[in-house]
Amino acid sequence: MLLNPHRLDRHYPDARSREIMQKTIDFFEKRGLTRLKEDFNQAVWYADFLEFIKAEKIFSTMMTPQAQGLEGEQARWDTWRICEFAEILGFYGLPYWYTYQVSVLGLGPIWMSKNQGAQAKAKKMLDAGHIFAFGLSEKEHGADIYASDMVVTPVGDGTYTATGGKYYIGNANKAGMVSTFGKMADTGEYVFFAVDSQHPHYELVKNVVYSQNYVAEYRLNAYPVTENDILSRGDEAWNSALNTVNVGKYNLGWATIGICTHAFYEAIDHASKRKLYGMYVTDFPHIQQLFNDAYARLLAMKLFALRAADYMKAASADDRRYLLFNPLVKMKVTTQGEEVINLLWDVIAAKGFEKDQYFSMAAIEIRALPKLEGTVHVNMALIIKFMANYFFAPKDYPEVPRRDEGSDDCFLFNQGPTKGLGRIQFHDYQKVYDSFDLPNIQVFKEQIVLFKQMAMIAPPSAEQSKDIDYLLTAGEMFTLVVYGQLILENARIYAIEEVVIDQVFDFLVRDFSKFALQLYSKPSSTPEQMQQCLKMIKKPVTDTQRTQTLWKDHVLGMRGQYKMQP
Ligand SMILES: Cc1cc2nc3c(=O)[nH]c(=O)nc-3n(C[C@H](O)[C@H](O)[C@H](O)COP(=O)(O)OP(=O)(O)OC[C@H]3O[C@@H](n4cnc5c(N)ncnc54)[C@H](O)[C@@H]3O)c2cc1C
Repeated sequence: MLLNPHRLDRHYPDARSREIMQKTIDFFEKRGLTRLKEDFNQAVWYADFLEFIKAEKIFSTMMTPQAQGLEGEQARWDTWRICEFAEILGFYGLPYWYTYQVSVLGLGPIWMSKNQGAQAKAKKMLDAGHIFAFGLSEKEHGADIYASDMVVTPVGDGTYTATGGKYYIGNANKAGMVSTFGKMADTGEYVFFAVDSQHPHYELVKNVVYSQNYVAEYRLNAYPVTENDILSRGDEAWNSALNTVNVGKYNLGWATIGICTHAFYEAIDHASKRKLYGMYVTDFPHIQQLFNDAYARLLAMKLFALRAADYMKAASADDRRYLLFNPLVKMKVTTQGEEVINLLWDVIAAKGFEKDQYFSMAAIEIRALPKLEGTVHVNMALIIKFMANYFFAPKDYPEVPRRDEGSDDCFLFNQGPTKGLGRIQFHDYQKVYDSFDLPNIQVFKEQIVLFKQMAMIAPPSAEQSKDIDYLLTAGEMFTLVVYGQLILENARIYAIEEVVIDQVFDFLVRDFSKFALQLYSKPSSTPEQMQQCLKMIKKPVTDTQRTQTLWKDHVLGMRGQYKMQP
């Protein structure tokens, strides 16, 4: 299941997709780890990477929807293909992923726009090797995007000027088109428009981070805007801001998976060669437990995110289930990534600080992913809206198979209004849970029943329903149920061995218990809620044979499998 750049054995629907992945890997392997780390440590802008991308036209194949593609180009927006590309970039370093990612975001409002002139311009720029940027965030307003101070003022002759600042904007030093979000001065309606980062009225104030990335503060000083630059207005502009983030935030999970996979190879190689007190570090039982946990968590991340891709690809106006699964990739997979790195770091200890190891980079970069494109809290606040229908109003849908056929996901640029989340229905999660008979799935099912019961016998009070602190913890428990569901769906599709599945549910049971204790401890929890929480605290079914099989057949099997060229 896990990426090994030496062995690309995934299903590729066409030769171009394989070529993109192989050439990207070859680019990084040829440069080697020494150069990768030097550039990272000295915060060198990745001009050579962008030259490579331009020469191979990789971004234009990856980021042009089929409708805008050129003949024979095999361009399409294919979430299945994007998964692996984002994973590979994360595997070699988050900065390379980030310049791609913010180009994805910058193109979002353009591909969602009705402005065909702007789309044609974007396509030309993509083909010429330009990068793109997404100017949504502002210095004073953080997650509160309602409060934009970027103002577009009509000047009377059908043209406009734009004035205001944007903050934390990736690629904004070089982007051919910077999709910028603001408000009309006269009507107050939202507007998305494209600006040129090299225009004299575009002031690049500074890079606000010390990194290979350029994460800019920029200002527009009476920047001239014409109708040709306007991408969308009013509700359409608002929807395209949120819908673009819907498309982009999915990739955060894949960068995380790539980072953790590379760190895993490094950690297991180091620990299995290091001898202390006459034994290998990997002979210590607690080290085996840390590795087993990291492995099960990493595999679960990948199973979940791959299955979510199927639902992204199956999305339509009648099937908006992706709006639950996608924020979960963003929020759950990225925070699980932090956990995996924590576990591995506990194993390799001082080695994790060394400047010429991949790990020290992973340990820093992994922290960014939960914070980008809506914090964990913002995504959790979104996820909670789905809880009632998920548990209590399931609906039949046709089965969604593995979607690796190489199709274009044009619906993602036509998602429509962002409202009505509470009305979205889901297929019955119980079906897949009931189709497995494994000890820890049984325990987890008991926890789910108790959680659901709590919603009926001790539901949140009116005050608790407004208390984000309380709801976030309940949301964590709900999240685990959905996480487990898609993991199981994919465990079937990928014929995952039972030892692995049961080990995944071993940690899911422990995590559920942990959140039950947190909910119990909330200041506002009532005696009835506390009692129910205590019932939810359960111990996973332990099985030495299972953990030893996992350790010997799976985890140790990662040893010696991959090492980056020096
Ligand atoms: C390296 C980097 C690159 C970035 N690149 C871009 C980019 O290219 N384009 C772009 O537009 N933006 C970009 N961003 C901005 C990023 O999306 C913001 O960090 C994000 O919107 C949150 O804003 P904030 O970090 O200022 O947190 P704040 O909004 O100040 O939040 C403060 C706290 O309040 C909580 N909070 C806020 N709102 C809610 C809510 N509704 N419910 C619950 N809790 C809430 C948050 O979780 C957080 O804990 C980037 C940021 C970084 C760090």
